[in-house]
Amino acid sequence: MALNRKLKMAMVGGGPGAFIGDVHRKASRMDGGIELVGGAFDIDPRKSRRMASTLYLNPKRCYGDYREMIEKELRLPEGERADFVTVCTPNNWHFPIAKDLLEAGFHVMCEKPMTIDTRQARELAKIVKKTRQVFGLMHNYTGYPMVKLARDMVAKGIIGKIRKIVVQYPQGWLATAIERTGQQQASWRTDPKQSGGSGCGGDIGTHAENLSEYITGLKITEMCAELTTFVKGRKLDDDVNCLVKFNNGARGVLHASQVSVGEENNLAIWIYGEEGGLEWHQEYPNYLYFKPMNGPEQVYKRGNPYVGEISAAAARATRLPSGHPEAFIEAMANIYRNFADTVRARMEHVKPDPLAVDFPDVQDGLRGMLFLETLLASASSKTKWTKFKK
Ligand code: NAD
Repeated sequence: MALNRKLKMAMVGGGPGAFIGDVHRKASRMDGGIELVGGAFDIDPRKSRRMASTLYLNPKRCYGDYREMIEKELRLPEGERADFVTVCTPNNWHFPIAKDLLEAGFHVMCEKPMTIDTRQARELAKIVKKTRQVFGLMHNYTGYPMVKLARDMVAKGIIGKIRKIVVQYPQGWLATAIERTGQQQASWRTDPKQSGGSGCGGDIGTHAENLSEYITGLKITEMCAELTTFVKGRKLDDDVNCLVKFNNGARGVLHASQVSVGEENNLAIWIYGEEGGLEWHQEYPNYLYFKPMNGPEQVYKRGNPYVGEISAAAARATRLPSGHPEAFIEAMANIYRNFADTVRARMEHVKPDPLAVDFPDVQDGLRGMLFLETLLASASSKTKWTKFKK
């Protein structure tokens, strides 16, 4: 039966002063199909209440912690209760919270990196399979229309067999020890207990890995990596350099950095096939550069009909006409819309639209954790080249 209402969303994380939780709130409501009903927004229950009141939420749906949230939401009738919960806490909390939510019967949208290690990631994949809940992972860069166009151009063979991929994610904001000033986002990101075994690799290296695999449809199989900590006293890496091999024999370079002074979020990718190349920059996301072997470079611009002729997914991910820029929030909204349409289909016991199942999931999360495991193993090994475990 058609579910004639908005999906109800709750959140864990995203308290006052938090970064990505607020973007989730904005992105999830963009298309009108999702409403936020409550949550456990902060590790500090007082701050959580403050957040709920700023958002004009029913104070009864603001909880002291996520366990209380699960228990009390389950007492509400279906239709009033949250249908899914977004987890946007620091990394160490993702696994225990997502596990409890799935086992309690909630669909889950989780921030990346999915867990702290591959053991947790494999367990979560098993739980998703067993519970049959929908699990989304917020690798939001795959939500950009021009990323989807690049993926579909590769799949259609427009650049031929891929030989080389260069992907980078340099930032400069951790070039000094701002974690010692109490800066919220830096404090937990540089703490191995909260962040995981790799700092920069986990925080943004996973985005580069995910983007390269999403666009090309290839899998990284082997890496030769170096992790460096430039800032004195910091416990985790702040710079990552890797050579990578893909499963079709393609070679690549992946680098990420949080000490590249002057860089903001300069995620970019270059893909070279036997017949052409593609280039995309996150800071200029409405353009995709196509370099055919025997012709001049072309610029594909978001919102034009020729984009939709190649990529139905890119057309679906576009809200505004060409020339009115769309960016970060819209890309995340695209992940939310596909996730929500899939949740809705699951609840209605129908097959989702094939275009709707295009969002990162628990298997992408496991790939991210395998990437980090291999990165750490390679960086500390003398032989360097290290294969991904199965
Ligand atoms: P943040 O420090 O700004 O916010 C974290 C929030 O979680 C805070 O409000 C904190 O009080 C709350 N919190 C911590 N433990 C909690 C718990 N047990 N229960 C309830 N709330 C809890 O961090 P952030 O920068 O927003 O990052 C959060 C997560 O999002 C991280 O996993 C990070 O990797 C990810 N992230 C993803 C993107 C992206 O582009 N996809 C961007 C930024 C951050």
